[in-house]
Amino acid sequence: MILRHNGPIETDPLEFAEVPEPQPAAGQVRLKVRCCAICRTDLHVIEAELPPQKLPLIPGHQIVGVVDRLGPGTRRFAIGDRVGVAWLRHTCGQCAFCTTGRENLCESQRFTGYHADGGYAEYAVVPEDFAYTIPDAFDDVAAAPLLCAGIVGYRALKRANLIDGGKLAIFGFGSSAHIIMQIALRRGCDVYVVTRGGAHRELALKMGAVWAGETARQMPVKVDSAIIFAPAGALVPAALERLDKGGTLSLAGIYMTDIPEMDYESCLFYERDVRSVTANTRRDGRELLAEAAKIPIRPHTTTYRLSEANAALNDLKSDRINGTGVLVAWPFNSSSKLHF
Ligand SMILES: [Zn+2]
Ligand SMILES: [Zn+2]
Repeated sequence: MILRHNGPIETDPLEFAEVPEPQPAAGQVRLKVRCCAICRTDLHVIEAELPPQKLPLIPGHQIVGVVDRLGPGTRRFAIGDRVGVAWLRHTCGQCAFCTTGRENLCESQRFTGYHADGGYAEYAVVPEDFAYTIPDAFDDVAAAPLLCAGIVGYRALKRANLIDGGKLAIFGFGSSAHIIMQIALRRGCDVYVVTRGGAHRELALKMGAVWAGETARQMPVKVDSAIIFAPAGALVPAALERLDKGGTLSLAGIYMTDIPEMDYESCLFYERDVRSVTANTRRDGRELLAEAAKIPIRPHTTTYRLSEANAALNDLKSDRINGTGVLVAWPFNSSSKLHF
C-alpha cells in the first residue's frame, strides 16, 4: 500500500500496487511481512502533519514478519526467525545522547515508514540492530501492537514513576493505553481511566480498571502517577489537580495542543512533576517485550486485509477502533489465530 501524494485519509491516498521486492543492504535483513499494526503516527505521516521525508512511501512501523533474506555482514538472525520492526530504525551511536543511554534523543534518528519504507507491504527490510526478537508468548497479530503502542506506552509508564501497588490515572484509552494498563494491573496498581468514548470506558472496566469516567474532576481519588495519551493540552492542569503530593504526570503524545495557564498551588506545588516522552530506546523495546511476555499482555485487536489500509486508517481517525487495528498480509497462511 503505497503513498504517492500526501493527503487526507478520507481521500484514500494509499494505493494498492505491485512494486519491486526490496533487497537487504549491508547490515540489513528482509522480512516476509505477516502483519503490521496501524498507528496514529501513520496518519500524521500520510496527512503530512509530520514534514514529508520520502515519496513514494510505504508506511507502517509495527511490523511482524519472518526473516527470508540476509544482507551482507549480518549475524544476528537466521532465515525463518520471527522478528518485529518498530518506529526507530537508525541512531548515530556516537552523540552525547546515544553514548549515555538516551538514543531516543539522538539528532540523527531515522524512522520506519517515514524515512524508509515500512510494513504496509509483503516485504520489508530493516537494519538488523533495530529488529526485535518476538517472544513465543504472542501470535503475530497480538505482537504487532506492542511494537509502537506498547513500546512508547512503556516509556510513558517509566516516565510516570509508577510504584508497584500505586494508583495510576490514564487519560485517553486507545491502543497504547489499553496495553499499558495490563502492565500496571500486573504490578498490583489501581487504574483509573478518563475518556470521553463510552465504548472505551466499557473496555477499560472490562479489562480491570477500578474506575472509568468522562472527566478528571469525577475521579474519586488522587493518584500517584498519571499518563496523558490524548493530544489535548487542556487535560494537563486537570490531571495535575488529581495528582497526589509528589506525583508525576507523563505526557505520552508526539503532539499536544497548547496547555492552558495554570495555578501553581493547585497544579504544581507539593513536588508534582510533569514530564514529556520522546520516542523510545531499543532498551525500552526489549524491556517491554520481556515484561509483556511474562504477563502475557493480550492486546484487543481488529484485523483488516492489507488492501483495506485506507479503511482501517479512516476507522482509526474517527475513533471507531477499540484497541488496535492490524493489517494482515492476505491470504493469511501462518499458524497464527485471527481475532476478528
Ligand atoms: Zn546519536
Ligand atoms: Zn506508532
